[in-house]
Amino acid sequence: MSERTILFLPGDGIGPEVMEEVRRVIGWYAKRQIAIRIEEDLVGGAAYDRYGTPLAEQTLEKAKTIGTVMFGAVGGPQYDSLPFEKKPERGLLRLRKELGLFANLRPAMVFPALADASSLKRELVEGLDILILRELTGGVYFGEPRGIEVLPDGQKRAVDTQVYTTGEIERIARVAFELARVRQNKVTSVEKANVMHTGVLWREVVQAVHDREFPDVALEHMYADNCAMQLVRKPKQFDVIVTDNLFGDLLSDCAAMLTGSLGMLPSASLGAPGPDGRRKALYEPVHGSAPDIAGRGIANPLACILSFAMLLRYSLELPAEAARLEQAVARVLEQGYRTADIMQPGCTQLSTAAMGTQVLAALDALS
Ligand code: NAD
Repeated sequence: MSERTILFLPGDGIGPEVMEEVRRVIGWYAKRQIAIRIEEDLVGGAAYDRYGTPLAEQTLEKAKTIGTVMFGAVGGPQYDSLPFEKKPERGLLRLRKELGLFANLRPAMVFPALADASSLKRELVEGLDILILRELTGGVYFGEPRGIEVLPDGQKRAVDTQVYTTGEIERIARVAFELARVRQNKVTSVEKANVMHTGVLWREVVQAVHDREFPDVALEHMYADNCAMQLVRKPKQFDVIVTDNLFGDLLSDCAAMLTGSLGMLPSASLGAPGPDGRRKALYEPVHGSAPDIAGRGIANPLACILSFAMLLRYSLELPAEAARLEQAVARVLEQGYRTADIMQPGCTQLSTAAMGTQVLAALDALS
């Protein structure tokens, strides 16, 4: 295979610590003739300290040219008093916007060894593997008009606008159907068509894309409130859930809790395919920079390693290698290895680096 380049942006706090373990995984693949070249740069607070901005122009240009970004985490209390535009999180938001990353993928997988960490009963979540696909760049978080005004009688009035176009719905629907085809072939499209016009259009457009381009994929429509209930009642009924920005924000956090641990949750954000057919993409753990444990070598690197597995699957088109890495993580957990955040009685507690070492050993054992 020809060498592929990815941009490494470790960021702040535990970001560099967990990304270091991904670097070791990449080293393992290099020995198997899967060459991945790493370009590295600063983002977030680390970029502010060096360049005076959370995302330097040259870093953004690199991200655009390379197209595939592996991101750690940003933020920290020392940056809290910075002006809004200089805050570390602005670096991430700008990257998402400039790369046109409109599709946010949040898988919720429950490894059998961690089923007891869920707030639901073991039998409801054991073996769970669902994917929430959230529209990330439209809807009520961006719609105009928005703002707070003072009325003549002295009251205040706040407005947010939920808005979607056919094109925005079509492109996210296509991602959902494409993902379902390489999973369990089922899409649940979620909105509130009973009370919202955007919901009516959402349902109509998703159905039309299905009928025209993806008739082989099973499609169901569900109201968002029912979906929230079904996620905690019978989560294994789902495969891919596709929904708008607001509902996706809520439902993905709800699904996250089914798995029980922030340190285990990967994510990916994808853009539209370019002329070469490749999508720009950014992969990152769901968790933040965890300043409370940064520098102590105890962070859980598995969310970041699982995000890299998504990179193997969706950007490098190496689904078998992605599955191997996910199996390696499952095996390490079955062997009773844990970082502090997921520690259970009778298990062996490991540091960040020791957990990485066990993942490499499991990769060896699976090869
Ligand atoms: P957080 O996710 O950083 O931490 C929440 C809690 O979970 C903390 O107790 C932390 O120790 C623990 N935790 C998180 N990841 C862990 C891991 N891998 N292993 C073990 N324990 C882990 O969220 P927060 O505390 O609300 O935010 C801290 C900083 O991170 C803030 O500056 C925030 O703005 C930023 N943040 C960044 C991102 C991002 O970069 N995408 C996301 C969320 C928060």
